[in-house]
Amino acid sequence: MTAAKPDVLIIGAGVIGLSCALALARAGRSVTVLDRGGIGAGASHGNCGTITPSHALPLAQPGVIAQGLRWLLKPDAPLRIAPTLDPSRIAWLARFALNCTYAQVERVAPAKAAILNRSRDLIEAFIRDEAIDCDFGADGELQVFRTRQALDAASVELDVLRAHGVSVDAWDGARVEHDEPALKPGVVGGLYWPNDAHIRPDRYVAELAARAHAAGVTIREQTAVTGFDRSGDRIHTVHACSERIAARDVVLAGGAWSPLIARDLGLCIPIQPGKGYSITYVRPQRAPRRPLVLAEPRVCVTTWAAGYRLGSTMEFAGYDETLNRVRLDALVRGASEFLHEPVGPERVEEWWGWRPMTYDDLPIIGASTRIHGLWLATGHGMLGMSMSNATAELLAAQMLGHEAFIDPRPYLPARFAV
Ligand SMILES: Cc1cc2nc3c(=O)[nH]c(=O)nc-3n(C[C@H](O)[C@H](O)[C@H](O)COP(=O)(O)OP(=O)(O)OC[C@H]3O[C@@H](n4cnc5c(N)ncnc54)[C@H](O)[C@@H]3O)c2cc1C
Repeated sequence: MTAAKPDVLIIGAGVIGLSCALALARAGRSVTVLDRGGIGAGASHGNCGTITPSHALPLAQPGVIAQGLRWLLKPDAPLRIAPTLDPSRIAWLARFALNCTYAQVERVAPAKAAILNRSRDLIEAFIRDEAIDCDFGADGELQVFRTRQALDAASVELDVLRAHGVSVDAWDGARVEHDEPALKPGVVGGLYWPNDAHIRPDRYVAELAARAHAAGVTIREQTAVTGFDRSGDRIHTVHACSERIAARDVVLAGGAWSPLIARDLGLCIPIQPGKGYSITYVRPQRAPRRPLVLAEPRVCVTTWAAGYRLGSTMEFAGYDETLNRVRLDALVRGASEFLHEPVGPERVEEWWGWRPMTYDDLPIIGASTRIHGLWLATGHGMLGMSMSNATAELLAAQMLGHEAFIDPRPYLPARFAV
């Protein structure tokens, strides 16, 4: 059976696929989005919801490998790398290690800052102008330290971030404790990021889907893409369930699944799933007034009007779908070191999600160099919510032949020859 031909077919109804769908539909393209599950069923569901220009430095940095090795023997450490014989994971980890240089930080930080800063502005304008109901807060983020060593290590990077337009204030322990009464005493200092913000991610994605629908986008849930047809190097048809759907352009926005989906096209997209966890509660009485990053255990705490979430940790264990209790418990233990009331009165949801991690920590946005008609919008790692609107703007500009607001070159698929 062959369905009516949309102009653009987007694979993946996460924050990235839906943001691209909305931008393209508003630019006059006819758009269909396909998802194997439901709207926002992947990493875009239970993440921490912070919008963070503050995270402009790449994950691959000098010192990260030594830290990672120290953590290897601790099952509840913020980073876990499961032993593997999988050649693609070994190759990815080796390339990540090769990226842990000052030269790479200098190359990647400006590109990350550019897309994060642009997206931060676009997200706030979108939420304000269209009255998006997603518990948006623009009151910054506070990173809190209980050891001088961790604070000093983080402070080394501040000038680099400031040079790329990221604002940060260094606070002493007394100021942090005064500003945030939810914290236990013993804080040595904090970094306040005034331009960071937060949203409730599942609500934001639901609102995005509603706006896309209103703009004429067709969203088809429970519709897994299983293959493609090509004429030479041009893609023309997507196989989904028992259908073959023809389209002029296909956008791959499958998050951590992107390499699996693209295998049928002979593409090796260097993305590994970086598994993270979250626990959502009914809001405790002494909830923090703004998002916190608890520096030493690397736990993110986000508070909304009616909810409260502990999240993070990074696990490279392939496409493993189990909920690792040790890692969930580590979130609560980390929060207990810092907060008077680390958990809420009722546990609402325990969740894991796969971050689509590239080894250079930049997303992949633009035309495939190998398959005509295929576009990529994937690989957003730890920052897909934060980069979503600028990604859509950048992809739409390239697809429509407009000049992009930010330089598209650092994110192009060409750097991975895909
Ligand atoms: C614990 C945790 C905390 C995080 N916190 C933050 C944060 O505070 N701020 C931030 O900016 N980012 C955060 N992130 C990262 C963010 O969640 C991701 O970068 C972002 O959600 C990626 O969006 P996406 O649309 O690319 O992927 P996804 O949301 O995973 O969407 C991909 C979609 O593709 C669909 N799909 C897969 N295979 C197929 C197929 N064969 N056919 C059709 N559809 C398919 C999936 O069902 C899924 O819906 C966090 C992530 C985690 C795990």
